[in-house]
Amino acid sequence: MCNVLARPMLNLAPYARHAGLSSFSAPATEMAAPPILLSPPHLTGQERAAIEASLASGWLAPAGPTPRAFEQALAEATGFAHVLGVASGTAALTLAFRVLEIGPGDEVWVPGFTFIASIAPAVQLGARPRFLDICPASWTLDPALLRAELAKAAREARLPKAVVAVDIYGQCAALHQIAPVCAEYGVALVSDSAEGLGATQAGLPAGRGALLAAFSFNGNKIITAGGGGALASDDPGLIARARVLAHQAKTPAPHYEHETTGYSFGLPSVLAAVGLAQLPGLVARVARRRAIFQRYGECLGDLPGISFMPEAPWGRASRWLTVMLLDAEAFGMGPEGLSRVLAMAEIESRPVWKPLHMQPVFRDAPRAGGVVAEALFGRGLCLPSGSGLAPDGQDRVIRAIRAAARG
Ligand SMILES: *Cc1c(COP(=O)(O)O)cnc(C)c1O
Repeated sequence: MCNVLARPMLNLAPYARHAGLSSFSAPATEMAAPPILLSPPHLTGQERAAIEASLASGWLAPAGPTPRAFEQALAEATGFAHVLGVASGTAALTLAFRVLEIGPGDEVWVPGFTFIASIAPAVQLGARPRFLDICPASWTLDPALLRAELAKAAREARLPKAVVAVDIYGQCAALHQIAPVCAEYGVALVSDSAEGLGATQAGLPAGRGALLAAFSFNGNKIITAGGGGALASDDPGLIARARVLAHQAKTPAPHYEHETTGYSFGLPSVLAAVGLAQLPGLVARVARRRAIFQRYGECLGDLPGISFMPEAPWGRASRWLTVMLLDAEAFGMGPEGLSRVLAMAEIESRPVWKPLHMQPVFRDAPRAGGVVAEALFGRGLCLPSGSGLAPDGQDRVIRAIRAAARG
């Protein structure tokens, strides 16, 4: 049941101020509504002590006990036997593609409905991307389409070197269906689980079933280290290889011997300390984000032209971001219009991922389907969903959306 509607009407002062209505005057205190962000870092209060302990130990750089302790904790949280902490989720994906030896002449397949970091590192290594469409029921990689495309590619002897499945907005891809298909064709499966930490698929944590999984601890993710990422696998050889590459591909010799070139991708101790302080709260954060999603549904679901991202039958989403779909005709405006109205009330929102096949940089890339992703792009809007979002903050968002709806 929604309990927002009985409360006082939206204060229109901030709208008037942004709209430049000079005749409108309101007390300064009323105008100073604090901005509500999409998914800002949510601090537990334990971070300061963790950073101080890290500083006191003398370890700041990407070495020492804290990054290792964070990796250990992540192994437990993700269910993977081996985890490497790195500087970002993008760095983790770069290392995934490197250890799979992806290079010029290779294809890497990825759903078009994702953030560019899912594929950018493979492209930078010389691979050609191919974009596959998603399922309407989950918004994740369509396993039936993948099977059909792999069969066709096998017949034409042009199988991809890797497939990247993506957990989108906290909803896991159907790895229980995708992994067997990839195995059948001998294609490596990478899971971009940057948005999936804390979600499950077929009873397993995000990313399980893939050969390699990447996670992100960027400031807007469910757990943040201020910045950071992790690469996980059950294969100790792959993670050991990635660890060498993440530290400039130094082989153990006092003078630094290099058989290849690597990266400076280590996770600094101070950041690992922040991540380590945040990780125990993961389950509670998922519960909070799910409650936020549910409340948006209860308080907005009656409006014409509004619906929400479905939950896949095979999993439990973390609802990293609540995504609302708008029918512009019925609601009275589309996602862009509503986003502008919310911005005037100091509320951040964001369109859903623009399909990669629509991005100028990938204009000429091959693809299979894409209409599902395109349809979502025209209708989807991400709403403030941070686990630190207070109920009265969410009320403000709800009231602003209700005020914008066709009367
Ligand atoms: C955040 C994100 C990444 C990249 O993570 P960074 O830590 O910001 O490099 C990759 N893929 C997806 C789907 C993401 O949302």
